[in-house]
Amino acid sequence: MNYQLIEIQGEQTNLACPYCQHVVLNWEEEQYVQPCEHTAFVAMDLGFEYIADQFERCLPHSVDDIHTHEMNVFEEITHAQVEQLFIYKMELGVADLYRYVGITLF
Ligand SMILES: [Zn+2]
Repeated sequence: MNYQLIEIQGEQTNLACPYCQHVVLNWEEEQYVQPCEHTAFVAMDLGFEYIADQFERCLPHSVDDIHTHEMNVFEEITHAQVEQLFIYKMELGVADLYRYVGITLF
């Protein structure tokens, strides 16, 4: 799979979709995860906060399996069968944990 990893500085940085400019991570909202039609997932090393059905079907394992067996989230998302994926990576501010936002054209 082709993916591009983009590192974002800061723990609570708003993130806009490069295709439609919708603010996918919006820290001014109580519900800060605001997926657009290009949002494949919002995940942390600890598990998924959001996943598009279409993207889950491209993963080697289901989200339930990943959560139940505590699989490596980054490993799973980078093994998804999609043509092209942008992965935005940012610090959670806790230990060495990260949040990932996946953007793709379905
Ligand atoms: Zn979008």
